[in-house]
Amino acid sequence: MTSTNSGTAESFDAVVVGNGVLGISLALTLARHGVAVALVGQEHRPWSASAAAGAMIGCFGEVTTTLLHGRSGRAKLDLGFEARNRWDAWLAELDADAGEPGAESLITADGTFVLLNAIGAPGVDSDNYAAIRQALAEYGEKYEDVDPSQIDWIEPDALARPLKALHIPGEHAVNSALLLDRLRQAFIGRGGRLVTDEAVELIVDHDRMDGVVLASGDRLSGRTVIVAAGARTQLLLDGIPDLARTVPPLVSGYGVSVLLDTTPAGGRVPRSVIRTPNRAFACGLHVVPRGPGQVYVGATNIISADPVAHPVVRDVHFLLDCAVRQVHRGLWHSPVTRTHVGNRPVSLDGYPLIGQAGPDGLWILTGTYRDGLTLSPLLAPELARRILGDAAQLDLGLFSPVRAPIQSMERHEIVRTTVTHTLAVGYESNWHLPVDWPTQIEHNMYRELTFFADSLHPVFTPPPEILATARHNPRISTRLRHYYDQYDAAGSGQDAIA
Ligand SMILES: Cc1cc2nc3c(=O)[nH]c(=O)nc-3n(C[C@H](O)[C@H](O)[C@H](O)COP(=O)(O)OP(=O)(O)OC[C@H]3O[C@@H](n4cnc5c(N)ncnc54)[C@H](O)[C@@H]3O)c2cc1C
Repeated sequence: MTSTNSGTAESFDAVVVGNGVLGISLALTLARHGVAVALVGQEHRPWSASAAAGAMIGCFGEVTTTLLHGRSGRAKLDLGFEARNRWDAWLAELDADAGEPGAESLITADGTFVLLNAIGAPGVDSDNYAAIRQALAEYGEKYEDVDPSQIDWIEPDALARPLKALHIPGEHAVNSALLLDRLRQAFIGRGGRLVTDEAVELIVDHDRMDGVVLASGDRLSGRTVIVAAGARTQLLLDGIPDLARTVPPLVSGYGVSVLLDTTPAGGRVPRSVIRTPNRAFACGLHVVPRGPGQVYVGATNIISADPVAHPVVRDVHFLLDCAVRQVHRGLWHSPVTRTHVGNRPVSLDGYPLIGQAGPDGLWILTGTYRDGLTLSPLLAPELARRILGDAAQLDLGLFSPVRAPIQSMERHEIVRTTVTHTLAVGYESNWHLPVDWPTQIEHNMYRELTFFADSLHPVFTPPPEILATARHNPRISTRLRHYYDQYDAAGSGQDAIA
């Protein structure tokens, strides 16, 4: 399979739009099969989630009570488990691409400590900590309960000291910036073509894909187009209204993370990832070693109608305060050597969008939210198999882009979870209230959010963090109403997927 250059319109077998971890992993996998692939994306990866990620490679540290609740959450955990176990082989393949060893040096952390500390709320932290242990036991994963006072490196404030901790030896982390570099080199080495531009339009010819138009005005022809443009995928899908009507719209889970120089904290770094359970709508506070004298601290998660380009004071302030209080007081004096902003691709039902959709030859690979990096060695080869017409190895039916909204809990449970997580933000922000106020706030918030959820749709309810944001964000609530209306108008029935 070859590519032909014809002035401003080059032809490829496949055009991948988006050079984050998913797009580039897929493009590389296709190139390894001899497919002529163009990978479209600007070199500095604006709005990218991948470049801002820690990146923890694990599934158990991410487990929540909500995830274990329904069929879709369980399916997502299964994917995470499979994916995590593919990393050794994936890194070995990168070595084979390079013709020399070295990919292992991308791994920055050996194992993960999960801390249950005095910060947060029982309904979030304690329950999610218990859910992590439950999942570890169910999957037969090796872990060990440890005495928090014996964990090397940490030095939290007395009020934020950990009460319990466990160590998961099989969950590590990689340096996402180096990983992206390595994938890029491998892609070029396998004959792939990098197109450093932005795709502004998907070209459809008689219900068949025929390539993309670039911001430069040039075109790339291709009968197979894969959109893996992260949180910006929506802009391209909107150009095909019949398709956009049937796919859960995407918003951004905007997040901030930082790199800190640990010299003032003694210059040492932890050996493992140190994290809390997922809490307060975010992926848990985590500190990840990033080479000598440097740690990565992540991450906030704010649902936003559009991708965000610059860090917001509120989020940087919150993140750093959490890190110095809950993990290591010595970081108070640390130079901030880098601030990252990333936009997690989040569908309005909270689950990934993977597979063929709309015109012939169009594929979507996005919506991976908090764990797209972990999933990349699993999803890229799987989608490549499907694109090449080979037998699928995974059951991804639940995450097909054209589907009924996924809703893993009843409305009252989603509202209850939303309230609990919202109050947990208050506790993590160190609020100080008369002791009877949280109960009153909880009661009123529950009533108000129930009223709001009822106003969105009689049956469908979005995931907690989207419900919480939509309540105060007319752009997201409008999108939700529109999405549910379109689904109803298509006459597809009222049942959500569990
Ligand atoms: C702060 C933070 C921490 C995270 N931590 C972890 C973690 O520890 N572990 C984990 O597994 N996951 C983590 N995630 C989630 C993970 O990063 C994402 O799920 C994953 O990176 C998504 O990858 P992607 O390739 O789909 O999207 P992105 O990384 O967002 O990439 C999309 C790319 O497409 C490009 N693009 C957009 N529009 C166009 C266009 N029209 N034309 C061409 N190019 C375009 C963008 O510039 C970008 O480079 C984290 C995310 C954030 C924000």
